Amino acid sequence: MTTQTPTTPAPQVNRIGLAKADYKGGESTLCGGCGHDAITSQIIAAYYELGIAPHSVIKLSGIGCSSKTPAYFLSRAHGFNSVHGRMPAVATGANLANHHLNPIAVSGDGDTASIGMGQFAHLLRRNIRLTYVVENNGVYGLTKGQFSATADLGAKLKHGEVNDLPGIDLCALALELGCGFVARSFSGDPRQLLQILKAAMVHRGTALVDVISPCVTFNNHEGSTKSYTYAKTHEEPIHEIGFVPHFDPLTAEIPEGTAKDVAFPDGSHVRFRKTGRDYDPTDKHAAMELLHETREKGEILTGIFYMNPRKPEFAALQNLVDHPIATLPLERTRPRREALQSIMESLT
Ligand code: SF4
Repeated sequence: MTTQTPTTPAPQVNRIGLAKADYKGGESTLCGGCGHDAITSQIIAAYYELGIAPHSVIKLSGIGCSSKTPAYFLSRAHGFNSVHGRMPAVATGANLANHHLNPIAVSGDGDTASIGMGQFAHLLRRNIRLTYVVENNGVYGLTKGQFSATADLGAKLKHGEVNDLPGIDLCALALELGCGFVARSFSGDPRQLLQILKAAMVHRGTALVDVISPCVTFNNHEGSTKSYTYAKTHEEPIHEIGFVPHFDPLTAEIPEGTAKDVAFPDGSHVRFRKTGRDYDPTDKHAAMELLHETREKGEILTGIFYMNPRKPEFAALQNLVDHPIATLPLERTRPRREALQSIMESLT
């Protein structure tokens, strides 16, 4: 009688031959149950499913619990952990030095909506290519749970303090500042978050993804409007979203013909199926109106509120050469003596 040696099944790989494990990073040191870890899992899944090579990605962050998370995915990517609120400036420089890299930023509500607000506004205005994920929990987790600028008016802290200031709605602000991709999701809704992240990663411009990500240690109690219970009971998806990659349109979960498609220049598209209300994600005014309306009702609206995949990104507006500036040879970056001479003569 012959005995059969058990065979180990070959690991599943994506279109560039990498396994999901190749997209992981270090072990998380965040509190168990923190919403940020759920977002990290979907970032890993999105890069894996898109088949983006880890070394072609640059991860950027500022300061806060959220800004630690790039260490937990894509350990083979480039990375820069900047100072508090200054990540957009570093992202701008990185983008101009090498616009072939695929950049992702992970920030928090404190890092973005308070100290980094000026930088955030100018990043959006310029439309730097960047998937900008805000892990929004309404508190400063790293400094023991004080309200941040996105905390809702009337929300309560753990020990009963009430927030008497109105919260900043980052999505409404991004629309106002001309952002070409504005979305909101919830860390407890992995299916929707994955589709939004994939679309954001393909978008050639700033893609803001504001994710309600509960802080289990300081802001997950009754009276909080950023807790798991509150988000689960108040989440209102405006549509069902399916990302359809250009390299495999057969993977679309939402069948063609039942929905509206918005295409990216590379041939990928996002398929929207309505879940109740009629909504056009290319209508910026409708998006603004809806955000204001639902905010007054205390609903957490999720989905892609607005997308304009044809809005020119900053690198294109600057007429950059196709070759990344960071690796251009010296003879292509330094003008010849005659060229300088002719410029000087033209000025006399
Ligand atoms: Fe997450 Fe809050 Fe813990 Fe920070 S303090 S790791 S935000 S649960």
